[in-house]
Amino acid sequence: MIAPLTCQNYINGGWIPAQSGATLESRNPADWRELVATFPKSGAADVDAAVAAARKAYRTWRLVPAPARAEMIYRVGELLLQHKEKLAQLIAQEMGKPITEARGDIQEGIDCALYNAGEGRRLFGQTTPSEMPNKFAMTVRMPVGVCALITPWNFPVAIPCWKAMPALVCGNTVILKPAKDTPACATLLIQLFQEAGLPAGVINLVQGSGEEVGRALIEHPGIDLVSFTGSSRTGAEVGAACGRTHKRVCLELGGKNAQVVMEDADLELALEGALWGAFGTTGQRCTTTSRLILHRDIKDEFTAKLLERTQKLRLGSGTDPLTEVGPLINSAQLQRVSHYLEIAHAEGAKVLIGGEKNSKGELQHGYFFQPTILDKVSPDMQVAREEIFGPVLVLIEVKSFEEAIAVLNDTPYGLSSSVYTCNLNRAFQAMRDIEAGITYINGPTIGAEVHLPFGGVKQTGNGHREAGSAALDVFTEWKTVYVDFSGSLQRAQIDNRA
Ligand code: NAD
Repeated sequence: MIAPLTCQNYINGGWIPAQSGATLESRNPADWRELVATFPKSGAADVDAAVAAARKAYRTWRLVPAPARAEMIYRVGELLLQHKEKLAQLIAQEMGKPITEARGDIQEGIDCALYNAGEGRRLFGQTTPSEMPNKFAMTVRMPVGVCALITPWNFPVAIPCWKAMPALVCGNTVILKPAKDTPACATLLIQLFQEAGLPAGVINLVQGSGEEVGRALIEHPGIDLVSFTGSSRTGAEVGAACGRTHKRVCLELGGKNAQVVMEDADLELALEGALWGAFGTTGQRCTTTSRLILHRDIKDEFTAKLLERTQKLRLGSGTDPLTEVGPLINSAQLQRVSHYLEIAHAEGAKVLIGGEKNSKGELQHGYFFQPTILDKVSPDMQVAREEIFGPVLVLIEVKSFEEAIAVLNDTPYGLSSSVYTCNLNRAFQAMRDIEAGITYINGPTIGAEVHLPFGGVKQTGNGHREAGSAALDVFTEWKTVYVDFSGSLQRAQIDNRA
């Protein structure tokens, strides 16, 4: 157990309270009696200070050679490795995910550091022929400027790393606004960036609510780019504000991901995938499996096995190494999941297992909800269409592969998807026909790797991707450069072939 932390904002290389002096509290979701941290209740004045610091630092940081910038990110990766256990314990305590998953959250940050450290020596542009003799043409990547990074609580280390690391390697300066459920995780992470030697103002941290700090950032004229991960509802507001104020905006939003299990699938493999995809991180991943689309020939057999395994899942605090399913993040999320169960009952769905919060014994002071499976669900029901963000899996029966893909696609979201089949033709049809940013064949809907693009279509995003080299397209502007070494005015074809 870690003693309560007093967190501050990190602005211009210094740790300072909110200008108002007001604070908020972060508590352990597995036992709300336990205070994890106090942190600044920041507002527009704190955002102003952070933007001023980031703008000033941008003037020099953009001129630091990219390999040197990237070396500092490599150092952050080394520090994450060094402090992995301490940080993992804090994630388990503050966010609630099981300790093994918390270590994975940090591993993602380490992988991201290693990948982006290499990008510092690539950041490739193109050289290409010119229409004219004695003329040279190329493209180079330029940083965008000052980036606001607004992040959720479900991956309190991985998601800030996904955003900050490529942004910094590309020569931008950043302001991180983490979710108010995980301020201590953000503090420890930023301390590592500080220890890695980033100059003052290059990375800043402003803690507080979305309504105060988030809104001030998206409206601020000194911000050039907003990279946002969160719900589709908030994302729509962020996108609108950035449109009005002419900011570049990258939105990574919600999901209603499905796993299909065909009658020709390896059922044991599909079972492992469904359990991990649906109940890993208590169903609080954007890529969580929340719909299981089952071919009718295997539905009864598969469901029986699924119930048997779900029954055995062990709920508990994330810090207990035996825990398989942790708490939900807060009381609002517990109410939300409970509300969806009321909707399920009203819609005529059948609760096969779970369906209630777990308020007994040791768990009575935490936001625990039992792993839940709903049957008799049709694709038009609310529980089959809306993101619940909890341990609730709905079963939908289909008669054919074509129907399975149609049901999978029948959603306003388009993040992750999975098909279990041993039929090669079906696997390739699925890869072609599924409307989602990510498709797994014979794997669950969760399990992204940092060197591949991450993001979705429809209401999951706005056309950008995080991670891999795709992140560079978010955090850089292309500049096209022509060098004419002919010594005379050469008109391009647009003018000389008219
Ligand atoms: P949220 O939208 O409530 O909050 C996300 C962040 O936005 C927080 O930092 C919050 O303080 C801030 N915010 C809230 N209102 C704001 C406003 N008006 N202006 C600016 N900022 C504001 O989401 P959440 O509950 O923290 O996270 C869960 C959601 O995130 C789920 O929908 C999940 O699917 C999604 N998510 C998506 C991805 C992805 O990559 N696609 C990854 C993780 C989570």
